[in-house]
Amino acid sequence: MRYTTPEVTEIRRQSSSEYIKAVHKKIAERNAGESEFLQATWEVFSSLKPVIEQHPEYIDHGILERLAEPERLIIFRVAWEDDEGKVHVNRGFRVQFNSTLGPYKGGLRFHPSLTSSVVKFLGFEQIFKNALTGLPIGGGKGGSDFDPKGKSDREIMRFCQSFMTELSRHIGPDIDVPAGDIGVGKREIGYMFGQYKRIRNAYEAGVVTGKNPDNGGSLVRKEATGYGTVYFVEEMLKGEGKTFAGSKVIVSGSGNVSIYAMEKAIEFGATVIACSDSEGYIYDPSGIDVETVKQLKEVERKRIYHYLESHPNARFGNDNTEIWTIPCDIALPCATQNEISRESAHALVDNGLKALGEGANMPCDEEAVRVLTNNGVLFAPAKAANAGGVAVSAMEMSQNSMRYSWTAEEVDEKLQTVMKSIYRSCIETAEQYGQPGNLIAGANIAGFKKVADAMIAYGLH
Ligand code: NDP
Repeated sequence: MRYTTPEVTEIRRQSSSEYIKAVHKKIAERNAGESEFLQATWEVFSSLKPVIEQHPEYIDHGILERLAEPERLIIFRVAWEDDEGKVHVNRGFRVQFNSTLGPYKGGLRFHPSLTSSVVKFLGFEQIFKNALTGLPIGGGKGGSDFDPKGKSDREIMRFCQSFMTELSRHIGPDIDVPAGDIGVGKREIGYMFGQYKRIRNAYEAGVVTGKNPDNGGSLVRKEATGYGTVYFVEEMLKGEGKTFAGSKVIVSGSGNVSIYAMEKAIEFGATVIACSDSEGYIYDPSGIDVETVKQLKEVERKRIYHYLESHPNARFGNDNTEIWTIPCDIALPCATQNEISRESAHALVDNGLKALGEGANMPCDEEAVRVLTNNGVLFAPAKAANAGGVAVSAMEMSQNSMRYSWTAEEVDEKLQTVMKSIYRSCIETAEQYGQPGNLIAGANIAGFKKVADAMIAYGLH
């Protein structure tokens, strides 16, 4: 089969890098103004020159063009009532990006900054991340511009129920399986699952992941993204004869990914000296006490500066860019996209940074990545480093299908196996395509090839 239009025929005469640029130009025209989505698509496409050169069949089959267009983008109204009886309207999103390898799979984000551009960037990334895990899951993402901060528990419940009332039409254990992301943890997942169950009159446990382990969730799902990031970075460090032990680490954020990245880094012998939330950062040179952070964030849902009440020697700063000016050996950005700019990357390099692992999705902007990699910093890209969360989500689906639960040790062991195998696949692919040691190229190419080959096998759609 050959995907041919006069333009493609013309493009085939050009070099593969011209072809990639031409396709991306069309994507930019079609998705004008969607800066995060265009940043994410370019980040992948810019790695693909060697693979397109070796496999012109990807041009014939229009793989790049098809990959960048979601199979489906659902946008819907979410009306809900606050505790005073006032009606509010938010916007809900679900992008079902690519189902080549399995049911759409990816988290839901509740944050006021959520737009279709952000949902599409996250969904696009998810396709390749999920492919890298080697598990049978396609790529999707969703959420709402709803701000959960300051809402009562009843308000959160009413919002989740209203959100799921519409979303339930589009998902299912073999169709699309959402999970958590920023602003969505096991409480929100519980309310959404309850509403789905009520609407369907069926206990389809595998329809969402990240459930409470007491109610159909997997053990170690909560810890999986943070632990997995540290497992991946440890593999990368080992490859260079280094380790977490004895190093100083900065972890941005203090949410689900950050807390368990801190916990595992400390377990591996590192000292975590700083973390943050959206209102500022704390610096504790003697080592952040992660149990205090857990209590503040998971139990009391308080701001991070309250840490100083029990740790008066720590410092608080309200300018989050300053966290990257603190000298450290390893940086784990685990908060949100584009939190590390060129300036922050320069500050990290000047202070002797050795390695960076992206726990968040796309936390380093394009220029920051260039500064870090040009200066010899070992770089673990998000779609490989933070794939542990979705890997354990897929394990939750398996346990739900079997109506059986693995122990925490069993899940953790499987998680380590997946992270090691992703690392190996990135390293080997980078080597095979002439870019030894480049984990960005390795992750992009390995994820892309897996999906592209299956898209060809399944025929044009
Ligand atoms: P959480 O909501 O649990 O935590 C997010 C943390 O980042 C909070 O401390 C939050 O502070 C902070 N934060 C959010 N937005 C901003 C901002 N604009 N500026 C500064 N800080 C901010 O989310 P997760 O830990 O689940 O997700 C964090 C990142 O990891 C995201 O990029 C997500 O896509 C990615 N990820 C998550 C996975 C998961 O399993 N949860 C899986 C793979 C990737 P505050 O509380 O003040 O808002």
